[in-house]
Amino acid sequence: MPPESSASADLHLHSDRSDGTETPATVVRQARLAGLATIALTDHDTTRGWDEASQAALREGIALLPGAEISSKHRGFSVHVLAYLFDPTHPELTRLMARVRDDRIGRAEQFVENLAREYPLTWDDVIAQRADDATIGRPHIADALVAGGFATSREDAFRGPLNPAGRHYVGHYAPDPLEVVRLIVRAGGVAVIAHPAGRGMMPDRMIRALLAEGLAGFELGHRENVRSGVMHLRSFVEAHDLIVTGSSDYHGAGKPNRLGEHTTAPVMVDRIIAGASGSAPILG
Ligand code: AMP
Ligand code: FE
Ligand code: FE
Ligand code: ZN
Repeated sequence: MPPESSASADLHLHSDRSDGTETPATVVRQARLAGLATIALTDHDTTRGWDEASQAALREGIALLPGAEISSKHRGFSVHVLAYLFDPTHPELTRLMARVRDDRIGRAEQFVENLAREYPLTWDDVIAQRADDATIGRPHIADALVAGGFATSREDAFRGPLNPAGRHYVGHYAPDPLEVVRLIVRAGGVAVIAHPAGRGMMPDRMIRALLAEGLAGFELGHRENVRSGVMHLRSFVEAHDLIVTGSSDYHGAGKPNRLGEHTTAPVMVDRIIAGASGSAPILG
């Protein structure tokens, strides 16, 4: 679906500083070409794309909310927390993201070791797929499998050797979502749960605890959400006057998600900006 108007906002985009396939500057440019007025760069567990994206936003004349998508886990269940406009130098939050990134490296090495029993794949093959210092993840291993001819696409690799149910799978360290939300708030940011109604939902108890920590809202517009889960979360939104966002979760060529396929209402963008004190939006 194309963006409805020039005021369209898409608040969940990845660049090659994590597992997107385009540089931050290219992501910003593509967003402008897609007719978006406001975007957020939300690479996994890193702020490394902020400077390049900010400069590009000023050049392209687009508004940018610097952000991140922070990995967390509750009882083995993965929760992704979108963080907007936080202070990128906040010691505790930067330490937490660094710990996740560091652990992802050992995890990927172990994963490759497991895969190497079956595929002639090396660590160098994986590193070759990753931009300098990017947050490493299964998508880079997927790209190495594709480059080696062992999978036809990221999708194919995720269905096969990278599947969590498969014998090669290795997990990585991820903090509790309560801690993540707490630190985002302390760092002056606004916390929104990404794709909260996908396969498996957080229990209500967890949602209430996150709200008590200052969780601001839910990404109800996302291709992975299922209708019943969205309906359920709407009751929380109404009861607590929460922020609701819609986003594409763009990964360049790494996923079929198209820019602007879900968008966020301008009034919600304004609420995110008003609720943040850690860093300023770039108004290009
Ligand atoms: P990781 O955090 O390293 O376990 O990898 C998870 C990442 O892989 C997510 O951020 C997704 O963007 C990406 N991902 C998950 N499933 C797929 C898929 N089927 N195709 C492409 N990318 C995927
Ligand atoms: Fe991703
Ligand atoms: Fe996610
Ligand atoms: Zn994402």
